Order: sequence, then structure tokens, then C-alpha cells
Amino acid sequence: MTPKIQSVRGMNDILPDEAEFWERFEEIIRSWLKSYAYRPIRLPIVEPTPLFKRAIGEVTDIVEKEMYSFIDSLNGEPLTLRPEGTAGCVRAVIQHNLIAQQPQRLYYTGQMFRHERPQKGRYRQFYQVGVEALGFPGPDIDAEQILMGARLWDDLGLDGIALQLNTLGQSGERARHRAELISYFEQHSELLDDDGRRRLHSNPLRILDSKNPALQELILGAPQLIDQLGAESLAHFEGVQQVLRDAGQPFAINPRLVRGLDYYNLTVFEWVSDRLGAQGTVCAGGRYDGLVQQLGGKPAPACGFAMGVERLIALMREAGGEVGAEPVDVYVVHQGQAASRLAARVAEGLRDQGIDVLFHCGGGSFKSQMKKADASGASFAVIIGDDEANAGEVTLKPLRLAGEQPNEQKRVSVDSVADEIMSSILDWEES
Ligand code: ATP
Ligand code: MG
Repeated sequence: MTPKIQSVRGMNDILPDEAEFWERFEEIIRSWLKSYAYRPIRLPIVEPTPLFKRAIGEVTDIVEKEMYSFIDSLNGEPLTLRPEGTAGCVRAVIQHNLIAQQPQRLYYTGQMFRHERPQKGRYRQFYQVGVEALGFPGPDIDAEQILMGARLWDDLGLDGIALQLNTLGQSGERARHRAELISYFEQHSELLDDDGRRRLHSNPLRILDSKNPALQELILGAPQLIDQLGAESLAHFEGVQQVLRDAGQPFAINPRLVRGLDYYNLTVFEWVSDRLGAQGTVCAGGRYDGLVQQLGGKPAPACGFAMGVERLIALMREAGGEVGAEPVDVYVVHQGQAASRLAARVAEGLRDQGIDVLFHCGGGSFKSQMKKADASGASFAVIIGDDEANAGEVTLKPLRLAGEQPNEQKRVSVDSVADEIMSSILDWEES
């Protein structure tokens, strides 16, 4: 037997039963984004590798060990499957001069790729919805983006998602903190792991982000950035918190929240569910005022966030939303050559009127076709045999609609079948 080919590890198929759930999620997302005046942007999945090195930072988990990078064999160009969306979005904004006239609220959705160890809630191909606001100095926009999250959890019917907040200050403040951190970790270097020792001088802040349990106590005792913050940074942080308090949005300040990407400054935040185990962060983001300039644009403030779609869908399914195929309106049953030709025309005619039609394919007896029509969940069967075909008529049989006898079928002319169905649906909706 020919061996089967399997999907790549950590890259999942989303089958129809689940994919219908995704579409519902996407509908909710769209109207939510519209309600905050965000506009779509569609970006390539592949970008030049240097984009991510420069944007995310060389000394980060993503760039050091998670990127799917390759050389384009046709022209030798180093390319990478995008591990996140902000870098590409900012590249596009600069390339097309999008914020020259006015600030922009943008969003994108799609696959991201990271070579991680696959487990529940952690995949090598996963989906994000990303939101970026460029050209706004905040802190009003930071707070608005945070409150957007709260509204979305509500729209999705989710609860138990808690907000964590922190500030990373500005680069000068971080530099002073960094110097303090280095001397602290140097004094305790025997307690560091390999990653920690390697990052001690290149990126000591990253040590605070370590998931190694052996380091947690050391990290707890480390000097805190907040002690280095000047008045402006503190005011920005306070401004964000003020809006959250006014909105009645609870939050916890987590000084260890530093995020896994280098481009952040000032506000950072995460939304964390207690129902997903270790992979509990469903949404993360913050301000990245330096990135536009860092990628070659005119300096511009910005902030944004990204959500993990698989994790949110897992929560939605757990919360017990109903799913399932949405049934069609009409199942077309037919037998005989002339009848089948007429049936195909009738099916298209019904679709012209906006009626959803499942046209039976593959032949079989009337009886077996009627069984399939019943099982399909359709509201009506339209039945066409030689008899009907000769008369230019169809048999219309209600299968589902309340108020009708299930077997009260009738013959109607081909030209009036759409009207008959529409008026039955309307009667039914009114009753
Ligand atoms: P984590 O700490 O879980 O690795 P991260 O800080 O690397 O997350 P971000 O880069 O901030 O994640 O991405 C934003 C969101 O995307 C995360 O909060 C999470 O919901 C989702 N996400 C990140 N990596 C994965 C993955 N490998 N599989 C599924 N979802 C992911
Ligand atoms: Mg990660």
C-alpha cells in the first residue's frame, strides 16, 4: 500500500465541525473590530528574515530558536515564515507611507509559525488576530486597546480572563535598570541556567521572562524597573490605569511581565485565563514607540496586541457554545434524465433567489434520496421525477417548518417554487 503523508507536526487541519466554529468566531471579531473603527490590512506570510531579527530582537526565544527560516533557492534571499504580525504590519505601514497623513487603526488575522514543542494550546502553525494603532502617543489608546479585549471576551461569552499590566518605561530608564540587573545576576551567576548566563550581558531583561522554575526565586529578588522610572513614564502608566479604573476594569500589576519581544516600551499587558493550564495567555500586547524608526520609518508612536485564536476557541468550546453545520433551505431530489436536467435548472433558479440548496448528486432511488434529504436538516425537499418534468412542475415537500404537516406536499409550477418557499419561510418566521 502507498504510505500516507501526514501533516507537519504542530500544524493542524481544522475540520468542518471545528471550522464552522472558527467562522462564527471570525464574524464576532469583525463586528467587534468595526465597532472600534479598526480597518483590515492583509500581509504576506513570508517576509525577509532581517525584518524579524531587527524588529523582535536577536536575543529572544523567537529569533534564537523558533523561526522557520530558509533561503529562497531561486535567488538566495533569506526568508522567514512570519512568527508574529507586528513586524510585517509596521514594514507595510512604512513602505506605503500609511501614517504620513493621519494615524491608523489596523488589524490582521492569519497564520503565524514558530518552531516550538507542540502541546495543548501551543502549535507550530497557529492563528492570531492582531491589532495595531500607529501614530497615537497614548495613554488613551493603550487603555482603549485594553478595554477592547474586555469587550471581546464578553462578546465571545467568555469569563475568567484576567488582566495583567506593567510598564517597561523608556530606553534610558531600562538602561539604568539593565545595569542594576547585570550586577545583581553577576553576583548570583552560579544560580543561572545556560540561557541565563548567555543572556546576562546581551539581554538580562529576558532572564526575567524565563520559564525555568529553578530561576523563579532569583527572579523574584531582582531589582525592579519601576524604581528607575521618571515622571513622564509614571504619568503614562498612571494615565492608562485611570481609564481602566473609570471603566471598572480590574487589573493586576505584574512587574515581571516583560513580554517575549524586544520592541516594547511603556505599557505592556496580557490577558490570562485560568482554564487553559500553562498556555493560559490568550492575548498580549503593549506599546512599541521605537519600532517604526527602528525599521527605517519616520519616528512614530504605536501600540498593539495579538490574540491566540486556538486558545480562545478552546475557551469558547469549553463555555459550551452550540455549533454544527447550518442546514440548507432546500434539498433537491430527482430521478430520470429529463427530470435531472430540470432539477439542475431549478436548483440554480432557487439560488438566484437567495435560497441555499443542496442538489443531490450520485443518483439512487427516490427513497434513499429522501432519507438523505431528511438527514440533511433541510427545510424543504423539492422532488422532480418524470411526472413532474413532463408537467413543468415540482413536488414541494416541507420537512421541518413548524405549522405545516410534515407530509403535506404539493405540486407547484417550476416558476412559482421559489415564491412558495420564500412565503413559507416568512410565514414560519412570523409564527
Ligand atoms: P507564550 O508565553 O505562551 O509563549 P508569547 O509571549 O510567545 O506567548 P506572543 O508573541 O505575545 O506570545 O503572541 C500573542 C498570543 O499568541 C499569545 O498570547 C498566545 O495566545 C498566542 N500564541 C503564541 N505562541 C503560540 C503558539 N505557539 N501556539 C498557539 N498560540 C500561540
Ligand atoms: Mg512564546
